[in-house]
Amino acid sequence: MDISNLGARWVEVDLDVIKYNFEQIRELVPRPVKMLGVVKADAYGHGAVEVARVLEKLGIDMLGVTTVEEGKELREAGVTAPILVFGPFLKEDVNTIIDYCLTATIGNRESVRWLQDGLAQRGGTVKVHLKVETGMGRTGVWPRKALQVISEISAVSGLYLEGIYSHLATAMWKNKRYAQEQYAIFKNVLDNLARENINIPIKHLANSAAVLDLPHMQLDMVRVGTLLYGQYPAPELEKKIKLKDPWSLKAKVIYLRTLPAGHSVGYGRTYKAKRETKVAVLPLGFVDGLQTEPVQKPANILDLLKGIAKLVLHYLGHPLVSQPVIFPGGRGLIIGKVGMQLSMVDVTTLKGIEVGTVATVPARRTAIRPTLPVVYREEGRVKSVKVTSAAIWEKEIAVK
Ligand SMILES: *Cc1c(COP(=O)(O)O)cnc(C)c1O
Repeated sequence: MDISNLGARWVEVDLDVIKYNFEQIRELVPRPVKMLGVVKADAYGHGAVEVARVLEKLGIDMLGVTTVEEGKELREAGVTAPILVFGPFLKEDVNTIIDYCLTATIGNRESVRWLQDGLAQRGGTVKVHLKVETGMGRTGVWPRKALQVISEISAVSGLYLEGIYSHLATAMWKNKRYAQEQYAIFKNVLDNLARENINIPIKHLANSAAVLDLPHMQLDMVRVGTLLYGQYPAPELEKKIKLKDPWSLKAKVIYLRTLPAGHSVGYGRTYKAKRETKVAVLPLGFVDGLQTEPVQKPANILDLLKGIAKLVLHYLGHPLVSQPVIFPGGRGLIIGKVGMQLSMVDVTTLKGIEVGTVATVPARRTAIRPTLPVVYREEGRVKSVKVTSAAIWEKEIAVK
C-alpha cells in the first residue's frame, strides 16, 4: 500500500508489536487466568477497532471499554468477543446494552432496576459484573451492600451475574500497602460469598501494575491496557517483561535553514541560537497535540521540585524540557515555542537531513489530534490506512 500521498504528518501503529506485548504479558499471566484487553479511549489512542481485531485473533477472553458507545462501535465493526463496559450507564443506555450484547457493570441498585425494566420490555438476556468499591472512590457498591445487590440481580430473569470486580488506585506505587488493603477488602467480600455458597465465575482486580508486581491478585482474570501498548505503569516498577512501543507520530521535514548565532527562534523569542544553527521545520504543533501535556498537581515535594527545575531550565532557554525528535541520522531537540501547526528542531549536528526526511516526534498518544491519518502495519507491511477527515464527519452529520 502506498502511503506517499498521506500528507506530511501521520501516526503509525505496528500491530505486530501489540501481538508481541500480548505474548509477553501471557508469560506473567498463564492460563487458566483469563485476560481482558482494555481498548477504552480508542485503545489508548491506537484505534479500538483495529486493536480489538488483533486481540480477538490472539484469543483474548474479553475486551474492556468505559462507555456503551465504545462497545457499540466495536460491535458495529464486527467484533464478537465479550465486551465489558466499565463505566456506569444511564437508563437510556439499556437498549444499547441489550441490542449490542454488551456486558454491563452494576455499581448501584438503580442500574439493576433499569435493566429489569428494559429486559421486561425487550426480552433477551444481559450479562453483568458487579463492581465493588474498595478504595478507588469512584464507582461501585459498598462491600457491605454487595450481598444485597447480588440477590437483587439474581431475582431478575434474563440477568446473569458473570463477574465481580474492583479497581486498584495505587498498584503502580512502590509502596503496596494501600493496594494490599484494597485486595483484603475485596477478598473479604469474596469470602462472604463463598460462605453463602454464591458462585460468581469471574472474579477480577488486577490492572497492568498488579500484573507486574502483585501476581497473587490475578484471581480469575486480569485487565490490561498500559502493558499491551508497550508502556510501564510507572518508571520505577521492575521491568519483568520487555515491551515494545507500537505507536509513533511521524512528520516530514518541510523546510530547512541555517540561522546565524544569536538569532531567535519562534514566538516570544524564548530560544536564541548559541551558535550557527541548522533548523528543520516540522508540520506539527499545538493543534496536533504536540506539547500539550496536562498540568497535574505535583504528587509530592520531589515532583514539585522537578516541575520548578523544568520551568527554570525552560526560562533559561534550555530545550531539554522536551523529549528528542528522532531522525534517521540521530536525535534533535525542539527549540523555541511550538506553534499552532509548526515546530522547529535543532539538527545542526545531524547528517543527511533534507526536506522530506521523515522524523519520529514525541507526543502523548491519547492527546493527539484524532483526525491525523493512521497507518497500520502488520506482518511487516502496511495493512491499512485510517483517514478520518473533518469533511467526512460533516458529511455524516449532513446525511442524518
Ligand atoms: C483502564 C482500566 C484498566 C486498565 O488499566 P491499565 O493500568 O492501563 O492496565 C483496568 N480496569 C479498569 C476498570 C480500567 O478502567
